[in-house]
Amino acid sequence: MDRKAISDLRQRIFWLREDREKLENSLFRPKKMIRASLVFLANYCGKKDCRCKKGFPHGPYPYLSEKRKGKTRMTYVKKRTLDEVKREAEEYARFQHRLARLRKLNEKIRSLFEQIRDLNCRKVEEYRKVLTERKKNIPRQENEKGN
Ligand SMILES: [Zn+2]
Repeated sequence: MDRKAISDLRQRIFWLREDREKLENSLFRPKKMIRASLVFLANYCGKKDCRCKKGFPHGPYPYLSEKRKGKTRMTYVKKRTLDEVKREAEEYARFQHRLARLRKLNEKIRSLFEQIRDLNCRKVEEYRKVLTERKKNIPRQENEKGN
């Protein structure tokens, strides 16, 4: 068993746990959020002879874009609510980003524990080898006793 390797792994886990704790603390009290992202889209009205037909679209206008059952739904955002909605969508994006980082940290920590496990683990093959060695030795020992 490689003591140095295990001690390095342990140290790396300690550091990652500190990172994880900070990250988790930042997730405890999020500000108000909205489950969508804010996007700005140009509009084409479809009126004959409109400027949008000539490559000058209307807008761009703000929309909330959300995923629902695999489909994207757009909701127009009224101008007087734009600041509020923007803040909430940004907070949501930040929260989601941190959750993704938490997932990565957990995976990393888990993989380091797996390495510790593997360094401490013997395979059944090795156990079987020991058994076969013993079987070979036992009759000889009994013979020796008999003599
Ligand atoms: Zn138009």
